[in-house]
Amino acid sequence: MLKVSPEGIISDGRIIVRRFLNLEHGPLSSVVALVLHQTDSSTAQQTFNSYAKNPHGAHFLIDKNGQVYQTASLLMRCQHVGRHIRSRCLEIDKPSCDSVAMARIQAMSWSNHVKALDAHERAKTYPQRYPINGDSIGIEIVGRSIDAKTYESVTSEQNNSLQWLTGELYAHFSISLQDVYRHPAVSYKNPGEAATAVWK
Ligand SMILES: [Zn+2]
Repeated sequence: MLKVSPEGIISDGRIIVRRFLNLEHGPLSSVVALVLHQTDSSTAQQTFNSYAKNPHGAHFLIDKNGQVYQTASLLMRCQHVGRHIRSRCLEIDKPSCDSVAMARIQAMSWSNHVKALDAHERAKTYPQRYPINGDSIGIEIVGRSIDAKTYESVTSEQNNSLQWLTGELYAHFSISLQDVYRHPAVSYKNPGEAATAVWK
């Protein structure tokens, strides 16, 4: 099991702690899922430079060589998912959706649709909906976006570290590999983000 301090900081030889207090936005009362990201940067240092002046970021960062950094406390909420989540029932189990509500939402203009769908989904509890900032841990993987649909490939060192880290986090939070999501599955992002991340 991971050794975690009362402040939510991990003590482990495989993790370097680079905590950014400005990424932390209030307590994270429960963790039900992990969300995987890519940074659109070439190095961990570039991401640290942006974290130093930005409220958006995640709890972990995995560099190209597989080095894992903890960048925020496990007890604190980070802004990594984005403002509007997609509908899980629409994506994976359409018959389970509230068809009347969905028809009403789908008749709206795109921007109203995104907001109304988000509000509709947030009224549900996980796993009926996708994870949100208030109940998930974010893992950033260093890698650039290449175009609107593609990110550069996650390295084998990064995937090895990701598999180790997710395994430790499953045990720590009593979750499983079914509770890991790529960012574009959860909200409206470049569909290539974390596409080559392998956690199982
Ligand atoms: Zn992301």
